[in-house]
Amino acid sequence: MAEAKSGQIVNVMKESRLFPPPPEFAAKARIGSMEAYEKLYKEAADDPEAFWGKLAKELHWFKPFEKVLDWQEPFANWFVGGQTNVSYNCLDAHLGTPRQNKAALIWEGEPGDSRVYTYQMLHREVCKFANVLKGLGVKKGDVVAVYMPMVPELAIAMLACARIGAIHSVVFGGFSAEAIADRNNDASAKLQITADAGWRRGKQIPLKVNVDEALAKSPTVKKCIVLKRIGCAVNMQEGRDFWWHELMAKASADCPAEPMDSEDPLFILYTSGSTGKPKGVKHTTAGYNLFVKKTTEWVFDIRDEDVYWCTADIGWVTGHSYIVYGPLSAGATSLMYEGAPNAPDEGRFWEIIEKYRVNIFYTAPTAIRAFIKWGDHWVDAHDLSSLRLLGTVGEGINPEAWMWYHRKIGGERCPIVDTWWQTETGGIMMTPLPGAIPTKPGSCCKPLPGIIPEVVGEDGKPVEPGNGGWLVITKPWPAMIRGIWGDDERFKIQYYSDVPGKYLCGDNARCDEDGYYWIMGRIDDVLNVSGHRLSTIEIESALVSHPAVAEAASVGRPHDLKGEAVAVFVTLTNGFEAGEALRKELKGHVRKEIGALAVPDDIHFTAALPKTRSGKIMRRLLRDIAAGRETVGDTTTIEDYSVLARLRQDED
Ligand code: ATP
Ligand code: MG
Repeated sequence: MAEAKSGQIVNVMKESRLFPPPPEFAAKARIGSMEAYEKLYKEAADDPEAFWGKLAKELHWFKPFEKVLDWQEPFANWFVGGQTNVSYNCLDAHLGTPRQNKAALIWEGEPGDSRVYTYQMLHREVCKFANVLKGLGVKKGDVVAVYMPMVPELAIAMLACARIGAIHSVVFGGFSAEAIADRNNDASAKLQITADAGWRRGKQIPLKVNVDEALAKSPTVKKCIVLKRIGCAVNMQEGRDFWWHELMAKASADCPAEPMDSEDPLFILYTSGSTGKPKGVKHTTAGYNLFVKKTTEWVFDIRDEDVYWCTADIGWVTGHSYIVYGPLSAGATSLMYEGAPNAPDEGRFWEIIEKYRVNIFYTAPTAIRAFIKWGDHWVDAHDLSSLRLLGTVGEGINPEAWMWYHRKIGGERCPIVDTWWQTETGGIMMTPLPGAIPTKPGSCCKPLPGIIPEVVGEDGKPVEPGNGGWLVITKPWPAMIRGIWGDDERFKIQYYSDVPGKYLCGDNARCDEDGYYWIMGRIDDVLNVSGHRLSTIEIESALVSHPAVAEAASVGRPHDLKGEAVAVFVTLTNGFEAGEALRKELKGHVRKEIGALAVPDDIHFTAALPKTRSGKIMRRLLRDIAAGRETVGDTTTIEDYSVLARLRQDED
């Protein structure tokens, strides 16, 4: 194991498997070889502004831009002087082309109902709803809060906002009234859009009830539009609440897209809250639109005949960028599913893939770990031969989970794009381009053209190759965060102060001898054992490579001699039993895989790990439990409070 200098993180991961792009895939891909990637990367790195300026011509401009970038650290202005509209680029741009009658959205409801919108149909609905918003007094620059189930009307609402220059703030439909009110107040939202209820695992989620409670505490919100999704009884407050279908019945379908300045805000979106209180990330019009369009084309290599399915919820950035704005700007067919992966049973995703002949499937490691836990027979019962490309996002993927995904879902023929990015980055930053870059399981591989990362120590200087450190992005990119809503100071301190001039993303990474990046976990989560700084993901990946372990989270807890001891929390694969014997075996396994330094002092068996509502493990809460402390910090984004309570009980 390499000794690391102060501030650097030791690298203990030994992963040497390499999966080159399948030749049939590469032959047809937009970027079809390492040489093609390297050429494009170099072109972008040599002159990023010329590179993005050239690509930006692909958008529709009401007024051309005069300057590609005006960088006033930490504030970026892209495509200065230009005017465009995101809803126009997603919809109008395809009308009058062979795409106008192509499926833009294919939707599957949890109970099994289904709808398809062509580009022309979607355009019409969006125009009508844009007029509905105008009719209720929504103006350019107003914030519209959206709290809806995963139904087509959610995408319609977002595109309608974009069409008239209203700023949407979508809040995930699993959040509580408190969380909605917090976000409404932080954003000074004017109008709320919701539904009577939504389906989740066969249960009705009472969205309108939550909204009623939230609006009692959201003084800026004056009106509320309610979609009838389920048909359950809801309270409608006279003068404040309006039915979606009643307003739409009277709305005109004529609503030209408003020319928007490149830097006019498009949306606010709150981060997941893995590391603390969620931040209201601001994204703007032209740069975001360009970046999500190009990354959709490069990374998913979408073709007109593809059915593309991203399983994220639109309440997270992945849904914004890669269910709605990216795929629609690229003229793709985007599939949207309303419900849970295990409703009515654990085969639902595979049934959907078979039913719609899905070609591209993009999901999260937390889902993949659940699939593994549920067992292969759910997968085996379905025909997945339509798949040609797989993706992951949201957390690092442990190599063994990657191998399962590759074998079981991808049939060993589909490339996997492990995409590293953040709410703040707006779109995918690093990934193995599927036709060009050989993949190493567990690595997000290489930066996309125009993205220039670096790994630095706490002094801001690049670390020695192969060692871990802070991941920074050295040059502005078009979809970068434009600010934290209402808090310029926090924006500057969080991202542009520890390493001046560079964007500090908050994750640790290392770059190996082949120029491949490995995300090592959050900066705040690093363990410090006897002066050695260890990253979370490597210990966890070692544990997950044992057949008994389904999921693992590692944290440091105070230790008199070592500074910190390694504590791990593991959930087991069906059929394995917790106990002293397994504890001993797992310690031996980590010793063999990584070395003595990383052997856990404490192994906690648990039925579930605390996660954010977007499915990410919340290690900061486990740190408190491992140390026997009260929970400190924000817990509003936890998925299931009872997990925390049970973990505490186990400690007694
Ligand atoms: P908060 O910023 O409030 O703590 P969050 O960081 O979880 O929340 P997101 O923006 O949804 O909110 O998540 C981005 C983070 O997710 C990244 O910084 C990284 O830690 C993790 N992540 C996303 N994709 C990957 C990936 N492919 N590999 C490793 N980590 C990833
Ligand atoms: Mg974050």
